Amino acid sequence: MDPKYLDDILPLVRQPSHYLGSEINAIKKDPKQVRLHFALVFPDLYEIGMSYQGTQILYHILNSKEEIAAERVFAPGVDLEAELRGSGRCLRSLESGTALSDFDILGFSLLYELTFTNILTILSLSGIPFFSKDRDDSHPLIIAGGPCAFNPEPLADFFDVVVIGDGEEVVELLADKWLEWKNGDGDRQTLLREWSQMQGVYVPSFFEVGHDSRGGQVLTPRFSNYTSIRKAVVPDLNNVSCPDRPLVPFGKPIHDRLSLEICRGCSGGCRFCQAGMIYRPVRERSPEGILSLAKRALVNTGYEDVSLLSLSTGDYGALQGLITRLMNRCEPEKIALSLPSLRVGSLTPPLMTQIKRVRKTGFTIAPEAGSQRLRDVINKNITEEALFKTVEDTFALGWQRIKLYFMIGLPTETDPDLIAIVKLVRRLKKLCGTGKGRKDITVSVSTFVPKSHTPFQWCSQVPLEESQEKIFILKNELKVRGIRFKWQNPKMSLLEGLWARGDRSLSRLLVAAHEMSCRFDAWSDHFNFARWQAAIGASGVDIDLYTRSRAVSEPLPWDHIASGVSSNFLKIEWEKALSANPTPDCRHGECSDCGVCDFNHLKPVIFKDESYNKASSYPKRVSDKTMYRSLRVSYAKEGPARHFGHLELAKILERAFRRAQIPLRFSSGFHPAPKISFKAALPVGVESKEEHFFVEVPPHIQIVTLEEGINTQLPEGLRIYGCKPGSKKSEGDRCYAYDYAVTLRTGHFSRKKIERFLDCQESVITKTTKKGLIKTIDLKQLITKLHLVSPKIFEMTLDFSSGRQVRPTEVIKHLFELSERDVKLARIVKRPA
Ligand code: SF4
Repeated sequence: MDPKYLDDILPLVRQPSHYLGSEINAIKKDPKQVRLHFALVFPDLYEIGMSYQGTQILYHILNSKEEIAAERVFAPGVDLEAELRGSGRCLRSLESGTALSDFDILGFSLLYELTFTNILTILSLSGIPFFSKDRDDSHPLIIAGGPCAFNPEPLADFFDVVVIGDGEEVVELLADKWLEWKNGDGDRQTLLREWSQMQGVYVPSFFEVGHDSRGGQVLTPRFSNYTSIRKAVVPDLNNVSCPDRPLVPFGKPIHDRLSLEICRGCSGGCRFCQAGMIYRPVRERSPEGILSLAKRALVNTGYEDVSLLSLSTGDYGALQGLITRLMNRCEPEKIALSLPSLRVGSLTPPLMTQIKRVRKTGFTIAPEAGSQRLRDVINKNITEEALFKTVEDTFALGWQRIKLYFMIGLPTETDPDLIAIVKLVRRLKKLCGTGKGRKDITVSVSTFVPKSHTPFQWCSQVPLEESQEKIFILKNELKVRGIRFKWQNPKMSLLEGLWARGDRSLSRLLVAAHEMSCRFDAWSDHFNFARWQAAIGASGVDIDLYTRSRAVSEPLPWDHIASGVSSNFLKIEWEKALSANPTPDCRHGECSDCGVCDFNHLKPVIFKDESYNKASSYPKRVSDKTMYRSLRVSYAKEGPARHFGHLELAKILERAFRRAQIPLRFSSGFHPAPKISFKAALPVGVESKEEHFFVEVPPHIQIVTLEEGINTQLPEGLRIYGCKPGSKKSEGDRCYAYDYAVTLRTGHFSRKKIERFLDCQESVITKTTKKGLIKTIDLKQLITKLHLVSPKIFEMTLDFSSGRQVRPTEVIKHLFELSERDVKLARIVKRPA
């Protein structure tokens, strides 16, 4: 569907395709045919949200029910927000263009504290009151879930319900109960009471807020049978469905690949890691289940990369056997594999050999701390020896770059610990070699932020000035050729820490920050600390109250949220941290009694099978002897497809060929790419009745099969309608003449300006090339025909046979002195002259 309500806005914004909602595997239901309208809202940009597996899972689960339509909403970019506000329009969902205020439930994903201001932007663009107390039955129910929900208090005033823990089963139960409630005559409070009886469902309004003498929040339950909220947990991931038709995003999301969650939870016990605590116990998916899912999902998406997701992928019990089998499936189709989270020691040469069968995808190694003492404090069970061995192996197997991740400001950190990072990196640098084959190291540093439900929840966060100074030292000391130094802005970490251990008093700060135009705080190009300082001043919030250390006897704002990990275990771990005493990984059978497992209903699920790992062999690589034939394919790019950029279009076509199972010839070398080439790039926003690209396919592929196969795999507005033998080479550099029909939405064409153009000797456009060269083009030589149909419609023929290129938008802007906005909003349709 072309989102008509955005027709006059999309040409003006960055990445317009992100607002189309017509991706492959999008599910569009008639809103009138369903009973529950559920919006899955992600409070960040599309490119982040579409990389999040949780949205894909919930979208799939909810839409599998006939009575429910789940639709996506992402935070609009600041440009779209300005346009919506400027034109008095509200924010709408991607699939059906429904206003958010017309949904029954809005479900927000809470992944990162610095997205919180975007929640208010979304609500304000929808005309929905921020605070739950100000909403009534005419408003949607506003709920949330995700890792940040484990300390829901800073956002508690805004949400009717917060889901704590795994969402798969809870979301179904919430939806079923809503459908049942809708049939009855109970009010909203009745529904909230019923929802509150479900495991993992927190209703913030069912707790009264008070404060202790230090100003710390103390909650008093309003109902005696509702005093603590136990997290929802899926005991066996193999029993919950996983999308085998995930949405394939447009553009370039942060993770542009098929993500397969192979395991949830981590047994490593790193004391700083909230995810490692709240997602316990470890629950692996079966390797056969993963392989079957991968097979179906690759056919349904056309992805050329697969990523195995887990908090610690390298610890997956059957990893070697799984990836060998997976690569046996992927290698012939040039599908690459990446393992984003590998613990040092788990990254073995046999594993790396498998990964590089198609492409060498990147590795990040996270020592976290520079000294062994500090690594023992945080319970990062890796040795320097293992780290060196991993880096050596990585370089020996052909990788050219590794990324190292460290934190500063960890509890008990001293100056020697900081300098230990420098020494460690410099020694690792010696493994990089010199000269032409030199390898590179990227060092990435961020400030440690204490998080709720971890053994470090009581410790203080390093002050801003100290954090800045530490980063300054590292930056200077690591100014070495071949080392790239990156760091997270400590001001962002400070705010992250504020929210991570905050309470309900912070809701007034969030409103103040929203009113001071804080948006997309996780993005360095939008983050504005001065605005935050002003908001903090205006709301009277004392940051130190939140970043200070806390006594273990003190009430904590998240005390009523039970992650399953006992408070006693966290205290013992905190004490052990202070004496740098490690705790073993419970994966290997040594339970540390954290309290999560009952060893009946809930326990670690691990697929450790040496025979599975050993039995996997893989065929030797054979060179591709297929003879290919080159085809020239004609296609049209119209309607919503005009918003696709050139690279985006190339990716859409490549994936369409993969889904249609039409093999393409690939380039050889370390990074094989399909041979799809274009004669020229069509500018974003311009429609065309006839364009061409070239591909090489095996001779047995019939043209009619290709046309039919590809057309069923293309998004709306793209259509191929002809193939014939031909190659880019045989076409040469020949350029053609094209007709353009231009229809203005705003502004008008002036007859006088046409007359002036006809009367003049030359009409020169000056262009600066990407290399900074100045080029002039005389439009008198380029425009062979022009015709003013009406003040809004103009037609022209541009003859490019001289080799000179100019965009039609540049021509009309120059000829008619139109504004940038008029030009962007014009509809331009190209066809061969
Ligand atoms: S209870 Fe024992 S086995 Fe279960 S997650 Fe905790 S430490 Fe691991």
